[in-house]
Amino acid sequence: MSEQLISSVAQCVQRASKLADERVRPQAARWQAERCMGLDVLREGAQLGLIGMQVPVELSGLGLPFSSKAKVGAALAEADFGFALSLINSAGVASTLSLTLPPAVSQRWLPQLLRGERIGCTALTEPGAGSDFGAIQMLATPHGSGWRLHGEKRWIINAQAADVMVVYAQTQAGSGAKGIAAFVVDGTRPGFARSDHGRTETVASLGTGGFVLDGYEVQGDEILSAPGAAFKRAMQSINYARIYVAAMAAALVRDSLRIALQYGQKRKTFGMYLPMHQSWRWSLTDALIDLEAAQLMIDRANAASDDGLALEGVAAQAKVFATRMACKHLGPLQHALGAAGLSPDLALSRHVAASQVATLVDGSTEMLMERIAMKYASGA
Ligand SMILES: Cc1cc2nc3c(=O)[nH]c(=O)nc-3n(C[C@H](O)[C@H](O)[C@H](O)COP(=O)(O)OP(=O)(O)OC[C@H]3O[C@@H](n4cnc5c(N)ncnc54)[C@H](O)[C@@H]3O)c2cc1C
Repeated sequence: MSEQLISSVAQCVQRASKLADERVRPQAARWQAERCMGLDVLREGAQLGLIGMQVPVELSGLGLPFSSKAKVGAALAEADFGFALSLINSAGVASTLSLTLPPAVSQRWLPQLLRGERIGCTALTEPGAGSDFGAIQMLATPHGSGWRLHGEKRWIINAQAADVMVVYAQTQAGSGAKGIAAFVVDGTRPGFARSDHGRTETVASLGTGGFVLDGYEVQGDEILSAPGAAFKRAMQSINYARIYVAAMAAALVRDSLRIALQYGQKRKTFGMYLPMHQSWRWSLTDALIDLEAAQLMIDRANAASDDGLALEGVAAQAKVFATRMACKHLGPLQHALGAAGLSPDLALSRHVAASQVATLVDGSTEMLMERIAMKYASGA
C-alpha cells in the first residue's frame, strides 16, 4: 500500500475514533434503553465519508482499501458494537453498488447513501434459512426485462430503517446455490413492506428486523449477480466481513479492559486498589494476552485482503478466535467491577450481548469450524 493510502486510512480511523468518543459513547446507553438505532450519528458518520470508505473517488467515495473498514469498525465498536456494524453494513451496500453497477444505475441510490440520507442493508437470511444459505426460498421470477420478487427476509441488520437493500433470491425453486441471484431492492417502491420479524432488541442499535416482498419489481439493470454467480459472490464478500466482525469483537475486549482498569484504579478493597490483588490483575492480564493474539490474527487477515491474497482460511480463523476470545473474557471483565459492572451506564452489559451476536453474523462459529477443517483436510 502506498504511503499516501496508509495515511488516508489512518486519517479515516482517526475521524471514526473521534466520532466514537464524542458522539457514539455518550448516547449508546440511551439507544439501548430506548431500543433505537443511532440514526443521527450514522448521518454524521456519513458526512465524515465513512459510508464511502471503499467507494471509488470518482463516485465521491474515499477509495480506501478493505482494511479501512475493519479498522473503522473496530474504532466505533469500542463505543458501541451495534452502531459500528450498522454503519459498516450501510457502507457495504454503498461499495457493492458502486463496484458492481454501471454509474448511471448506482446513482439512483449512491449519493443519498453516501450522505446518510438513505440506509443500506444486505439480506440473505429468511425464516427457513440461516446457516444453510442455499435453502433460501425468496423467489425471483422473470418479468419483462426484469424480475419479480416474492418472499420474506428476517434478522437483517438495519432493516428497521434501510430502504436500499441487497437481496438474494432463488430463481429456480429447488436448485440450491446454483439458482441464487442478487438484486437491488428499493424500499420506497411498491411491493416492499417492513416487518418486525427478526427484530432483536438485545443489541438495539443494530436495527435488525425483516421485510416482505410481494411482487416487488426489479428493473432489468438492477440485478447485481446473475443466477449461478451470486452464491459465490456472497461467500466472497462474507470472507471480508468476517475480518471486520473479528476486529469489532476484539474492540469489545479492548474497551472492557480499559473500563475495568480505570475502575480498579479508583476502587479499594481490604485497603488496596483492585490491581494490587494478584488474582484480580491476572484476570485482566489473561484477557490482554488473548486480545494481543487475536489482534495478530486480525492484522494477518487484513494484510491478506489488502495484498489480494487468499483470505478464506485466515479470515475464518481470525473470526473464530476473536469472537470466542470475546465471549470468554467479557463476563470475567464485567465481574471484575463487582456489582458496578452491571450498571447500564457502563458499556459492559452491551458488550457481552454484542459478543454473542458476533458469533452468529457472517458465518456462525460452527460453520467456520467446518470451513477451516475442510481447508486443512484438503491441504490448502
Ligand atoms: C443480530 C443479528 C444480525 C443479523 N444480521 C443479518 C444480516 O444483516 N443479514 C443476513 O442475511 N443475516 C443476518 N443475520 C442472520 C445470521 O446470519 C444467522 O443468524 C446465521 O446465519 C445463523 O442462522 P440461524 O440463526 O438461522 O441459525 P441456524 O442456521 O438455524 O443454526 C442454529 C445453530 O445451529 C448451528 N448449526 C447450523 N447448522 C449446523 C451444522 N451443519 N453443524 C453444526 N452446527 C450447525 C448454528 O451455528 C447455530 O448455532 C443476523 C443474525 C443476528 C442474530
